[in-house]
Amino acid sequence: MIELVNVSKTFSDGHRALSNINIKIDNGEFVFLVGPSGAGKSTLIKLLLKETEADQGKILINDKDVTRLKRKEIPFLRRSIGVVFQDFRLLQEKTVYENVAFAMEVIEAPAKDIRRQVPIVLSLVGLSKKSNLYPSQLSGGEQQRVSLARAMVNGPSILIADEPTGNLDPDTSWEIMKSINEINRRGTTILMATHAKEIVNAMKKRVIAIEEGTIARDDMKGGYGI
Ligand code: ADP
Ligand code: ADP
Repeated sequence: MIELVNVSKTFSDGHRALSNINIKIDNGEFVFLVGPSGAGKSTLIKLLLKETEADQGKILINDKDVTRLKRKEIPFLRRSIGVVFQDFRLLQEKTVYENVAFAMEVIEAPAKDIRRQVPIVLSLVGLSKKSNLYPSQLSGGEQQRVSLARAMVNGPSILIADEPTGNLDPDTSWEIMKSINEINRRGTTILMATHAKEIVNAMKKRVIAIEEGTIARDDMKGGYGI
């Protein structure tokens, strides 16, 4: 569950990026976050990950107010949220398997859990046969699927995707959407910021539109808008 109550964010240079945002996303929902560049989408995502601080309001993730989290609790928050980005952010000197395993190593998961879990998520994204290749040996779509596997390997309840198809051609973008849809079908809440108008219009999911730091629209089975 994700809930923002009267959340505002003004940066230290005085720029107000978000004003009085109210959003409630239930477990298992699939939500597109749309809006022009500079609207405040990335700022909203950073607030959820506690990469930046709200100056007003409450942000609940799985019933915990993240604005009140202690520093030592932040790793637990980040473990409950998987994140993928437009630019994949894979470690180039590690194989597909090692990139995914690394996400479990950093949280000190037992080796036997790593050996069990990594093949499961690689198979979920259709990459079982590529586990020993390096990122440079993969297509963009395959690299993004590695990054999805890495985001999911610790079993987060929420997946945040910040323009996950931004660097991909239309066919490859649809492959990624199939993987994200499958992750949602298995129960993970999805929040995806995107400019991919055709994908948003075709999928008929909830659409939250942000404009100039406020919510312009919040429609079930919505479209991208103009
Ligand atoms: P906060 O108020 O959350 O501490 P800051 O205003 O200190 O954030 O800025 C955090 C970082 O973002 C700084 O490294 C700053 O250079 C960078 N930054 C500043 N202005 C912008 C902008 N318009 N868009 C993106 N990043 C910016
Ligand atoms: P979007 O992701 O929708 O393109 P952002 O959340 O990145 O929008 O930015 C919202 C507004 O806040 C923009 O005007 C941007 O320039 C500004 N902004 C983002 N980060 C910072 C920062 N660290 N310091 C100052 N202004 C920022």
